[in-house]
Amino acid sequence: MSVNIGKILGIPIRIHWTLWFVFLLIAWSLAVGYLPYTYPSLSATTDWIVGVASAFLLFVSVLVHELSHSYIAKKNGLPIARITLFFFGGVSEMTQEPQDASLEVRMAAAGPLTSFAIAAVLGTLWYVGGLVGFPLAVLAVLGYNALINAALGAFNLIPAFPLDGGRVLRGSLWRSSKNLLSATRNATRVSEVLSLLMIAAGLLLVVVSPDNFIDGIWIIFLGWFIWSGAETSLQQTQMTEALHGISVGDIMTRNLLTVGPDISVQQLVNDYFLVHPHGGYPVVQNDKLQGVVTMSSVRAIPREKREYETVGQAMVPYQRLLTIGPGASAAEALQKLAQYNVGRLIVTDGDRIAGIITRGDLMKAIRTRQDLGVQNSPYR
Ligand SMILES: [Zn+2]
Repeated sequence: MSVNIGKILGIPIRIHWTLWFVFLLIAWSLAVGYLPYTYPSLSATTDWIVGVASAFLLFVSVLVHELSHSYIAKKNGLPIARITLFFFGGVSEMTQEPQDASLEVRMAAAGPLTSFAIAAVLGTLWYVGGLVGFPLAVLAVLGYNALINAALGAFNLIPAFPLDGGRVLRGSLWRSSKNLLSATRNATRVSEVLSLLMIAAGLLLVVVSPDNFIDGIWIIFLGWFIWSGAETSLQQTQMTEALHGISVGDIMTRNLLTVGPDISVQQLVNDYFLVHPHGGYPVVQNDKLQGVVTMSSVRAIPREKREYETVGQAMVPYQRLLTIGPGASAAEALQKLAQYNVGRLIVTDGDRIAGIITRGDLMKAIRTRQDLGVQNSPYR
């Protein structure tokens, strides 16, 4: 769904497929709608060149906006897994939520401020360019992007999750209440009210004024986007809260069924996969973890070779495993699973295997705490 285009500030930048579509849509709507109307003296070819150049500059502006969030995050030691640019703009995927309220406020505010700064620079260039006689086509690109960046900054200031304004709101509530969960709940409530108002306004527009049908649909869609983003943020915060104070060692599965590296793959299939319900086994020799052998490691070996290849040859070696220590927090394990999009982590204590922790173990711990209504100490 997304393509990698490289790294900036050490962060992988990805483009979601919807962006290509929107790129063409923006270039097209500028070339046939906005430009012929605003600058009637430009030729149709020039309109298209200006349209494509403007769409490209908008794409760069969105990237700079996202990088401003990432820059503040990285400067404060918060890792950013990747930036994905998609049709509404971008998303910086954090593997960890900010640990303090003022960092969240600064990080969120950086984006809209950057968009306003870009708008100011382009607007100044547009103004000065008009005085000194820049070509009309260049002025058109500058003028459009000055406006659209100002609009982008303003849109992102709407105090609703997952927009920047929503995070500024939550950070401010968090700073005054010192309680992340209640701040998230209140900020989510504001987002829900705003998104319902947007959906209602969109429906009203569609019904009352069929000429603005497309605008109405867009407003409904944005309302829905804000609603679902707010729900996701609330769930994530509740999960992290529920895991507060629990370590990996507290909930991991111990006493694993392990396998030696010297038996054949065929023997592994017969004695393990066909007998026990597990999807993978740690490979252990002399108490030391060598690797992990899974169903897909077996599938990678052709049937006729399974008699001769050993588990040691087929396994994913220790160096390539995702591991975590038993003393790490359960919330950290949850973040790691999400970051690498895997279902389980091997828990290691030095070069020995201590256990395994799965998404299921974490979900069970979260459900138990939520069912029992266990109160956690307010987390700052
Ligand atoms: Zn932003």
